[in-house]
Amino acid sequence: MWRASVLTIFPDMFPGPLGQSLAGKALTSGVWSLDTIDIRTHATDKHRTVDDAPAGGGPGMVMKADVLARALDAVPHDTRPRLLMSPRGTPLTQARVAKLAHDLGAVIVCARFEGVDERLIKVRHLEEVSLGDFVLSGGEIAALALLDACVRLLPGVMGREASAAEESFADGLLEYPQFTRPPVFEGEPIPDILTSGDHGKVKAWRRAEAERLTAQRRPDLWAAYLAGKKPEKGPKSTG
Ligand code: SAH
Repeated sequence: MWRASVLTIFPDMFPGPLGQSLAGKALTSGVWSLDTIDIRTHATDKHRTVDDAPAGGGPGMVMKADVLARALDAVPHDTRPRLLMSPRGTPLTQARVAKLAHDLGAVIVCARFEGVDERLIKVRHLEEVSLGDFVLSGGEIAALALLDACVRLLPGVMGREASAAEESFADGLLEYPQFTRPPVFEGEPIPDILTSGDHGKVKAWRRAEAERLTAQRRPDLWAAYLAGKKPEKGPKSTG
């Protein structure tokens, strides 16, 4: 069973959307498990304080290293990676997601306020993971997104195993355009090749479209693809 442990001051946000659809069914059937650790229960004062003013001054509050460390240490010691959702982290990629899905699970710290005391990241060796170059109000939605991406890759969760191998990023390209009935929608037909029944031609068309879209929309992925590199390896191509 793939095990997720989430540290948060909002445990009621879980499983949230992950209790529905594919992830929800997989949770019920025991493909994966989810436990939440309420960080606040590891505070020691009567107000259950988890944050304090930033050293050096400035706006906002910082999550306390000692409280978070106690919360983390309450999670059973195992080999699962320990992640901190953070806009400063390494942007999440499908390759990282696939690796995480292959692991035993993940321990995920969701921060709030201005983030966490830097010393916690250092002494508990947290891997900072970002959902993208934007700022959320907390790590919970980022953790839900990461978990959703992992859980759908677990064996037996997705309807058709092949769909993971063909979708966007699987081979460094964005996915080709998809169509379904009706054959003509508001004057727009489905491309002839897709209804020709010629599987070789369909495959070639899809590959060409995937390449066209990637070159057009994602010069970064396209450069890595052309260089024959897997996009997740090493620093970004400088073109
Ligand atoms: N002051 C911080 C932002 C804090 S936002 C900064 O400027 O970097 C509060 C918390 O939300 C973060 O600590 C993190 O846990 C979460 N969060 C915000 N944006 C995120 C993102 N893009 N990816 C992952 N987690 C994010």
